[in-house]
Amino acid sequence: MAELTDGGRAAHHAYPCAQCGAAVEFAAGTGTLTCPYCGHEQEVTAAVREVREHDFAALAATARPAAPAAHDYRCGTCGAVTTSDHLSQKCGFCGSPMVAEVETLGLVEPEAVLPFEVDRAAMQGALQTWVRSRWFAPSALKKVVSAEQAHGVYLPHWTFDARTRSDYTGQRGEHYWVTETYTTTDSEGRSQTQTRQVQKTRWYPASGTVARDFDDVLVTGTHRVMPEHLAKLSPWPLQQARAYQPDYLAGYETLRYDVEPEAGLEAAKQDMAPVIENDCERDIGGDVQRVHQVRTSYAAVTYKLLLLPVWIATYLYGGKPFQVLVNARTAEVVGERPWSAWKITLAVLAGLLVAAAIVWAVVANGDGGSAGALAEAALGQAGLGEAAAHWAAPGWRESVGVPVYPVV
Ligand SMILES: [Zn+2]
Ligand SMILES: [Zn+2]
Repeated sequence: MAELTDGGRAAHHAYPCAQCGAAVEFAAGTGTLTCPYCGHEQEVTAAVREVREHDFAALAATARPAAPAAHDYRCGTCGAVTTSDHLSQKCGFCGSPMVAEVETLGLVEPEAVLPFEVDRAAMQGALQTWVRSRWFAPSALKKVVSAEQAHGVYLPHWTFDARTRSDYTGQRGEHYWVTETYTTTDSEGRSQTQTRQVQKTRWYPASGTVARDFDDVLVTGTHRVMPEHLAKLSPWPLQQARAYQPDYLAGYETLRYDVEPEAGLEAAKQDMAPVIENDCERDIGGDVQRVHQVRTSYAAVTYKLLLLPVWIATYLYGGKPFQVLVNARTAEVVGERPWSAWKITLAVLAGLLVAAAIVWAVVANGDGGSAGALAEAALGQAGLGEAAAHWAAPGWRESVGVPVYPVV
């Protein structure tokens, strides 16, 4: 690993291969930097320190200089200059890995990283399994979703710890039963008086204080990938995170955070809120609860910036871009897919034929009662519920509106 500085340009780390002059990259699932040309391996210089949490109050009190929108990298191998807002990427001309020295950019520095574990071949396998398991996906999709264009990207995330104390007001509901009298008419038209038990709820005012310590509440640090897609990639083995070390980024793209830590904390508080409300309900007791107001104070708030590894594949199908993400630790796949119109139509027709055949067979045997149920079962078997629901929906993708990750 060599460090380069060049006038006003961002200093960055370069990774020349000691054997052939090409460049080494971090090899997923290993502790080594490997040269893709000659196979030379060198150990990652592991950071000797533990992953630390940082005091949020201290961060908030310090003015952070505005980070440049983008910076220039000068490639240590070929000398080409690339302008980029990534913390790491490959040279656009020769493919050599470049990792920015974060401390020179005026940004909060990453504290921890979960290094890539799923390599390109394993990611390809996960993608193929995912495509095969999609009902009614067009056949061509299997060819389109190739792993070759997939990018290995580290996505910035914030984690927060906090001790919370919450004063709440609300109501405790207790059930009781009353006997009600009602009138019915019997089969001969005479009215009859009967009684029944009815459940009612009596409400009492309630208030109190609950406390809870939160550990590693994880929120996204980037707007470039939809939060609901990121959420589906969970859970992450956060306890396996290592202290930040630029070597792990060599050969991958790393996005800068564009969610400031203050906004990250607000998002984390929103994730804490339902947990706290649940605590209030338990504290209120009774049969049912209403929580009217919760005032929470947060003490000992700490944070860290964490980089999580994701493979991002974008493919074009029918002229539309679709995005698929693969968790590079667990191989979990989250993605958008097109639906095949003719496959769904054929399946519906086939289902109807099967249903008609069953009805005909059953009626021919003189058992009309179960024909409907059997036909319904046949339609269910064909998986038509899922298809019909998506077919009818105005948005024809599994999810829509994902900003397509810019391909560098
Ligand atoms: Zn080499
Ligand atoms: Zn280069």
